[in-house]
Amino acid sequence: EIVFIAKESDPNEGRVAGSVESVKKLKSLGFDVVVEAGAGLGSRIPDQEYEKAGARVGTAADAKTADVILKVRRPSAQEISGYRSGAVVIAIMDPYGNEEAISAMAGAGLTTFAMELMPRITRAQSMDVLSSQANLAGYQAVIDAAYEYDRALPMMMTAAGTVPAAKIFVMGAGVAGLQAIATARRLGAVVSATDVRPAAKEQVASLGAKFIAVEDEEFKAAETAGGYAKEMSGEYQVKQAALVAEHIAKQDIVITTALIPGRPAPRLVTREMLDSMKPGSVVVDLAVERGGNIEGAEAGKVTEVGGVRIVGHLNVAGRIAASASLLYAKNLVTFLETMVSKETKALALNMEDELVKATALTHGGAVVHPAFGGAMR
Ligand code: NAD
Repeated sequence: EIVFIAKESDPNEGRVAGSVESVKKLKSLGFDVVVEAGAGLGSRIPDQEYEKAGARVGTAADAKTADVILKVRRPSAQEISGYRSGAVVIAIMDPYGNEEAISAMAGAGLTTFAMELMPRITRAQSMDVLSSQANLAGYQAVIDAAYEYDRALPMMMTAAGTVPAAKIFVMGAGVAGLQAIATARRLGAVVSATDVRPAAKEQVASLGAKFIAVEDEEFKAAETAGGYAKEMSGEYQVKQAALVAEHIAKQDIVITTALIPGRPAPRLVTREMLDSMKPGSVVVDLAVERGGNIEGAEAGKVTEVGGVRIVGHLNVAGRIAASASLLYAKNLVTFLETMVSKETKALALNMEDELVKATALTHGGAVVHPAFGGAMR
């Protein structure tokens, strides 16, 4: 069976769905691997590296012969027209609000899987793209902040004088936030962080950052069974805003990462708070694609109000594409491995498997995921 690693058609996507390691792994699983020419360039992987790993370098037309197509982003209508009915497509499908595009994949007879719907259970940890990519985004957010800051982050005592350490405040201490904290600490900043989940308190402290939060009764119950944040009451938000307002005025850099599953991102930083910051400060909104935590943050732009730079880069993991691709490719191949029969070395889809059930969008000509119009199973 043939696995096709596609070149991403979105010009802003530097990631690729295959690495040298993943190609070797796919070969060992019994697949023939075809990589579209130039697919790895945005991630610094030349075609020859894939060839050395055992892949054949081909063209977009080779997708037609593929049994499995690996991508970063959901295929476009044009790309879909180049796949054969019955092919398996695995990607980050961005399915919410894109029901039409999902129906089109069903109509083309594709069996499609959305990697971001992978359940966050122990068995699937190595397939968890939300974690692998958020971790890198958290790191890159600090690098982007440092770039815009125009000052050094660590304290530097020199014969010519002392540069003070930057004060960095991280809002939301999930996967991205914890990596932002760790990165900011490594770069010598004085770091504090907040979250609404009590479990975050210890994690923040263990990274050497100060935890700041309104720790009332509501806070103590703010974590869902799945480990996610709940949307907080209006009363809590007012208390949180007061605490945050006082703290933010003293910060040089604020990095926000707060998300609530299935809801718009909570608004945590207001225009007033930005006005209270010193000119030259930097704020980075990692939630900008989901509505934004920071008032005035613009998707895909770096803007400035009152001397404070507001960073709203899109696809932040994609800004560190080579590392992001390495981890994403590993997530993909680990998932694909669960669908390969050990005896026959052939694809053996089990639609009742927990991971398949959670991630399958379309199969057999129909939308199968209940969240996107599929029949309840
Ligand atoms: P996320 O991306 O959904 O949200 C980021 C953070 O924002 C979370 O920590 C959340 O609590 C916080 N947040 C939400 N509203 C906020 C507010 N008003 N103010 C401040 N912070 C707010 O979260 P995530 O990074 O996906 O992680 C969520 C949880 O899932 C964590 O407990 C994490 O450890 C866990 N997790 C488990 C697994 C696994 O077991 N396989 C994998 C990854 C993450």
